[in-house]
Amino acid sequence: MAELKRLSESRDLTRIERIGAHSHIRGLGLDSALEARAVSEGMVGQQSARKAAGLILQLIREGKIAGRAILLAGQPGTGKTAIAMGLAKSLGQETPFATVSGSELFSLEMSKTEALTQSFRRAIGVRIKEEAEIIEGEVVEITIDRPAAAGGSASGSGQSSSAFKTGKLTLKTTDMETVYDLGNKMIESLTKEKVQSGDVIALDKVSGKVTKLGRSIGRSRDYDAVGPHTKFVRCPEGELQKRKEVVHCVTLHEIDVINSRTQGFLALFTGDTGEIRSEVREQIDTKVAEWREEGKAEIVPGVLFIDEVHMLDIECFSFLNRALENDMAPILVIATNRGITTIRGTNYRSPHGIPPDFLDRLLIISTQPYTEEEIRKILDIRCEEEDVEMSKDAKVLLTKIGAETSLRYAINLITAAALACQKRRGKIVEMEDISRAYQLFLDVKRSTQYLMEYQSQYMF
Ligand code: ATP
Repeated sequence: MAELKRLSESRDLTRIERIGAHSHIRGLGLDSALEARAVSEGMVGQQSARKAAGLILQLIREGKIAGRAILLAGQPGTGKTAIAMGLAKSLGQETPFATVSGSELFSLEMSKTEALTQSFRRAIGVRIKEEAEIIEGEVVEITIDRPAAAGGSASGSGQSSSAFKTGKLTLKTTDMETVYDLGNKMIESLTKEKVQSGDVIALDKVSGKVTKLGRSIGRSRDYDAVGPHTKFVRCPEGELQKRKEVVHCVTLHEIDVINSRTQGFLALFTGDTGEIRSEVREQIDTKVAEWREEGKAEIVPGVLFIDEVHMLDIECFSFLNRALENDMAPILVIATNRGITTIRGTNYRSPHGIPPDFLDRLLIISTQPYTEEEIRKILDIRCEEEDVEMSKDAKVLLTKIGAETSLRYAINLITAAALACQKRRGKIVEMEDISRAYQLFLDVKRSTQYLMEYQSQYMF
């Protein structure tokens, strides 16, 4: 458990400090009717694909996605990864998101099915609950389960108890005295009466009404006075309040690695995880099942994104077919930019190089190329994300470059141009910085042109 704690803390740190290619994506940018807003949560355009992803979100929430997968079909750089990540973020900040490219699965270091198993387990989160001592001055949240009651807002201040919504009442505090007294304070906010340790409180499961019954009850008519669905709660003693619940979120893959190597969790940072023995995984699955039964852990199914899915062979597809039936399976999103092509490992051709039985499981969403205006908006968001100030002219130029080359190339130029600006001790990225970066780094078109021009000078 201590290693898991260390691991979840270090992951939080890397999350804060790294600006990744998709770090500006915070969700799918949908409104409450699951319609795609033009620009929202870091997402721009691609509205019909985002709307379709929103419907999938609904299927997932209603538990109707089992056994199915999502295929994003579209040209490179049209936001397939971004949409898969947006879907994961919309499922909750703790939802794991793992990506792997079809070609990465084939290596000499591990078998393709091991690589796929590791990818699946990177996309399955485990939320582990632990009890710990509360330290003086800490901000703590203590929750008391309350039954659902009709309508109203979920705040404890000055409202009648029937106005409470559903779920839990949470108060925050920083000082120890209040921590001891917190359970009682919550109850007081509901009963509107002073309560002390040892008082007996009645909680009506249907109306949500909370009543103080005094220190001794014992007679059944006291119970009846509150209603037939009443449960009695004794105010928590100070002792009880000294402990708090701590939650760590890790993935099954991380637990596998910690338990499979002598170097423990450091292997996660070097990437040198190697093959993991099936006995280790079986033991971990048994342990996690035990924790789930004891209420100490919950499974958080994440999103696994497999790019270049046409690179998978027929055996990988059989693996996917089976893996999707597992009750812990993550949401599988695959992507390709190929049309009709050969299914790897066979002589058959099929749409996207995917075998018909797997095609049958797919919900297919297509992504479209961006307009210049959309490219400009995405570049705006990226400048903000990377903390780069850019003049209007420079943005116009960068947008033009993005439209003529690729969105990804233009995004990469932001960092390079910011460095060029820094070098000349400028504060704002100007057109000259963009031109400098454009000259230094070739886009794919120019790079191929260059190779074709000089190919006679290369060795074959
Ligand atoms: P490939 O097929 O090459 O893997 P892709 O379709 O997965 O490409 P992304 O990697 O998602 O494309 O997009 C390229 C970059 O543009 C990323 O930084 C991504 O976050 C950003 N991006 C793409 N689409 C959008 C969008 N609709 N809104 C905001 N950012 C986007």
